[in-house]
Amino acid sequence: MTESVTNWAGNITYAARELHRPRSLEALRALVAASAQVRVLGSGHSFNRIAEPGPDGVLVSLSELPAEVDVDTAARTVRVGGGVRYTELARVVHRHGLALHNMASLPHISVAGSVATGTHGSGVANGTLASAVREVELLTADGSVLRIGRGEHGFDGAVTALGALGVVSALTLDLEPDFLVEQHVFTELPLDGLDFETVTAAAYSVSLFTDWRAPGFRQVWLKRRTDQPLPDFPWARPATGALHPVPGMPAVNCTPQGGVPGPWHERLPHFRADFTPSSGAELQSEYLLPRPCALDALHALSAVRATVAPVLQTCEVRTVAADAQWLSPAYGRDSVALHFTWVEDTAAVLPVIRRVEEALDAFGPRPHWGKLFTVPAETFRARYPRLGDFAALAAELDPAGKFRNGYVRDVLGAAGTAA
Ligand SMILES: Cc1cc2nc3c(=O)[nH]c(=O)nc-3n(C[C@H](O)[C@H](O)[C@H](O)COP(=O)(O)OP(=O)(O)OC[C@H]3O[C@@H](n4cnc5c(N)ncnc54)[C@H](O)[C@@H]3O)c2cc1C
Repeated sequence: MTESVTNWAGNITYAARELHRPRSLEALRALVAASAQVRVLGSGHSFNRIAEPGPDGVLVSLSELPAEVDVDTAARTVRVGGGVRYTELARVVHRHGLALHNMASLPHISVAGSVATGTHGSGVANGTLASAVREVELLTADGSVLRIGRGEHGFDGAVTALGALGVVSALTLDLEPDFLVEQHVFTELPLDGLDFETVTAAAYSVSLFTDWRAPGFRQVWLKRRTDQPLPDFPWARPATGALHPVPGMPAVNCTPQGGVPGPWHERLPHFRADFTPSSGAELQSEYLLPRPCALDALHALSAVRATVAPVLQTCEVRTVAADAQWLSPAYGRDSVALHFTWVEDTAAVLPVIRRVEEALDAFGPRPHWGKLFTVPAETFRARYPRLGDFAALAAELDPAGKFRNGYVRDVLGAAGTAA
């Protein structure tokens, strides 16, 4: 490939024969039909090789396709093109007086790429972003169009699908009436005596942040819908000013705090659409485990904090409601998500990731598909009881494995070979 393409973090340069940016659906269909190995690049915010087609494959960016965002106000749904990012989607949906149920920490990511990896925000009752999808439209291996709606054959494998079933040309999402959110930030929440269930249920979306330099949380972010009660939060002190989740970074990159109400899409993400999200120079890992294990898992992390803290920028603890997508890290279990924003130094970070994985292993963690992990797939495959069904669906829709790269083959293991 003459043009070198890296992910957002810059830690991955994708191996590919060619990069294409088709300008029409017809051109995309012809490209897919004519290619032997294809992977789509979303907005490139994953930290691993999930999007990589391999040296003989074709990498396709949908960024030059017309950015379709069609709201149906009566049905309360939106049809969104395969290359559109949450930033554009949210603005249009809001203009129609409607809302998405939740957002990730940043709006810069593509919708199709996010739901493909099980990307999530927080909230004990909030499913992953994929849980809003009611129909997926795929360009399959021969370039034909297949639409699969909720409740139809294969739907539960077709949304959080790691890009393995075809090119997602459009998604239809459920919407709800527009709502306002306030962010209330608190500081210094101790781990000792933490009532995890009560604290994380205190608002619509709750995030706990720690740098693990002490056994507790430096910050708690409560995102309260203004149509729900104002929480009493006696466990920590109200922040005296706006804060960034990475200690010492300027809060100007963050969405407004201090209890100032604003539209859902300007409060549910932590980071503002028009600024660099997070620290900008970082690596990330994340593990989802059953929520009842949350407190034990946090104590297990606290026990290795002397190893973790030196390469950590911030650790975020969120909750995710169970869903039905076979490959969702929250499949079938209400989850706690333990996220790590590491320093930008792969060699220093990988041994620490291994240490974290050992500390969490007893709790059956499922790694975030889009972030860094070292645990081999054979260790976590059994934690996905419907993996065999997914492999069968992939074999049905893509018998020659046009969309299966090294990452996906690794995840599927023998199930993928047999299918
Ligand atoms: C700063 C930062 C903050 C983050 N915050 C969060 C967070 O709050 N919560 C969370 O869960 N994750 C978070 N992530 C991770 C991120 O949401 C995921 O990695 C997500 O997949 C990124 O979407 P993308 O479009 O950039 O995907 P990419 O990395 O481009 O692709 C991901 C996968 O989707 C596939 N794909 C993309 N588009 C299509 C398509 N149209 N058709 C078929 N397959 C497709 C790709 O082939 C690949 O397999 C964060 C990442 C960063 C960098």
